[in-house]
Amino acid sequence: MKREELERHPAYLALSPDEQAEIDERLADWYLDAALVAATTGGVNELEAEDLRFWLATTRRRPWAMISTVSHPQRANTLFEGLLELSPGLAEREDRGEIVPLARGLCRALIVAEGARVDEGFIRDEQLAALMRRIGRLEQRVEQWSDAGVKQVLCEAGFDELAEALSNYVKTHRGVRGFLQRVGERLDTKLFDFVRGGLFVTTGATDHEGEYRGRTWSNWTQNYEAEPGSFLRPRSEDELSSAIAGARKLRVVGGGHSFNASPLCSGRMISLDAYDRILELEPEARRVKVQAGIRLRDLNKALWEAGLGLPVLGSTDAQSIGGLIATDLHGSGRDHGFLSEQVRALRIIAADGEAQTVEPGDELFHAAIGAIGTCGVVAEVELELVERYHLEKITEMVDRSETEANIDKLLAANEHLSFYYVGGSELSEAVRVHRWNRTEAPLSDNWEKLKTRKELNDFAISAYFPGVAKKIADIDEDAWLSDALAPDEALVMPGSSGFGRKLFYRHDELEYGVPFERYQSCLSQVMALLEAEEFFSIVEVRFTPDSSQALLGPGVGRRSAYIELATPLSQDHETIFARAETIMLAHGGQPHLGKKTSMTAHDMLETFGDRFTRFTAVRTRQDPQGKFLNAFCDRVLCE
Ligand SMILES: Cc1cc2nc3c(=O)[nH]c(=O)nc-3n(C[C@H](O)[C@H](O)[C@H](O)COP(=O)(O)OP(=O)(O)OC[C@H]3O[C@@H](n4cnc5c(N)ncnc54)[C@H](O)[C@@H]3O)c2cc1C
Repeated sequence: MKREELERHPAYLALSPDEQAEIDERLADWYLDAALVAATTGGVNELEAEDLRFWLATTRRRPWAMISTVSHPQRANTLFEGLLELSPGLAEREDRGEIVPLARGLCRALIVAEGARVDEGFIRDEQLAALMRRIGRLEQRVEQWSDAGVKQVLCEAGFDELAEALSNYVKTHRGVRGFLQRVGERLDTKLFDFVRGGLFVTTGATDHEGEYRGRTWSNWTQNYEAEPGSFLRPRSEDELSSAIAGARKLRVVGGGHSFNASPLCSGRMISLDAYDRILELEPEARRVKVQAGIRLRDLNKALWEAGLGLPVLGSTDAQSIGGLIATDLHGSGRDHGFLSEQVRALRIIAADGEAQTVEPGDELFHAAIGAIGTCGVVAEVELELVERYHLEKITEMVDRSETEANIDKLLAANEHLSFYYVGGSELSEAVRVHRWNRTEAPLSDNWEKLKTRKELNDFAISAYFPGVAKKIADIDEDAWLSDALAPDEALVMPGSSGFGRKLFYRHDELEYGVPFERYQSCLSQVMALLEAEEFFSIVEVRFTPDSSQALLGPGVGRRSAYIELATPLSQDHETIFARAETIMLAHGGQPHLGKKTSMTAHDMLETFGDRFTRFTAVRTRQDPQGKFLNAFCDRVLCE
């Protein structure tokens, strides 16, 4: 596209003067390929301001002429044209404006999946499931765009292996074979959890963690695995820096407690398990400086012994501090919401191995929090602490509608508050509430034993008897059955142990932060979806004030409520999660990047706007060659 043509274009004119200036600067090195625009946006005239914004937000590491977001424009072009040829009447259709972006999205997703296949040697089922969902949406609009049609286009464009993978996915997930496969997987999972849960009860081993065994690294649920070319456990900053500088592709892992493919890498993986010391602990100043590999449980223990603590924590403590910063851990609080509130400095190592220490106010500090490691490896963390405290946790079954009507009062009256709804039940009259408040009261007798007993009870119900969980939610909270199966409880525990729980069964999670004002309408739609599909899931609801330090994250920029679907691994949840995501996005939802998400970078730009652009500027400065990007990060943060 000629420069003068662009300058007259409505998309360009809709940009702010700063954005226009940035485009002008970028055009010194880049040009807009009109043919490509025509192929991917349906015509130069259909170019939108958002396309230009996205072009700005994408990085200099993609040195080919482009306007679209794809990383292989020629091949995307071929795909797109192949699709258009399948449906010759498209140009005349009135809904063309809606269909073209969907088709463009599918082409991008196919290219990203192909990139992942080349990178990792195979394509994950969830990525194939996401592709099938897109194809399904398109097929509803244009009959010819079925999975068979798309397969044909893929083969013609030379993507034979991707076509084969899609076709195998369809075979194993539909019909009788698909049904039998699902039943087998479900039985396997339940048996596995039963044995692991039993092992824990008899030996006390905390076995549900990410680990590197043989040549394979797997996350805590063992449903994400990678065979990295090398797996290193550096012990000093020098070792860490050279491991980073010397890698072509690299990801760092902590406890492997995230629910997606973000830690995986076929190049180099680094664990900070041996980089886990407390460097400075100053009780007077209430500060601690740690190496980022330290696990939360070890830090909590050391802080408790020193008379100190953290004001807010999440629901388990097996993660590394680096991983928690990288996903902007949130708890549920009236006054405090995020671990990042306590961070006073971060030492971060960029892709070239250079380390720097940054503090609040520095753009890198805010970008690195929640960046899932794409702005550099967090090597050290300095935290501000509070005096240690006792925490009273009260758990009760309460009336759902009464609670929702009084939510403001409940939040004002409690320091921390969260709810467990049971999704999939017909009436869902009752809901379980957890309230945490500091107290001067002494620790409860046998609090550890009582806590574990309760966790085991929850495990048995959620993993093995979801029907019982549904029943409890369906009956009056004062009924004897409710009291017998889910008794009200109050326990006083150390602040360092009171928020977290142990998990004996594996599950998957999807979680979005939505604006507080909209959460009840969002939640009722999510619950209606689960009810209509009779889909069992614990739905946890939590709250944070507008206090996150991150540029990108589920709770940034506003007071938030979180809606989390925690679903046993034995359930087939891809489709439901995707539909729940659509509901949450429609309510202004922002994804938790430590959990499942089907977001693309384009969606992220739409969701976070200027924050995403600022984030991208930092990310590309820290990692100009995309060393820290794997298929997941590429899709969500770069594409
Ligand atoms: C049982 C359970 C309960 C949970 N409860 C909560 C909760 O209450 N609130 C909440 O917000 N989340 C919660 N999560 C999610 C979890 O805390 C986050 O996903 C967190 O990242 C896990 O930390 P990790 O050390 O296990 O990180 P990993 O899973 O190992 O890594 C997570 C991501 O961070 C990157 N990363 C790891 N270390 C570093 C580093 N040093 N520098 C840069 N990047 C790094 C990894 O590459 C990866 O992308 C929970 C998860 C589980 C399994």
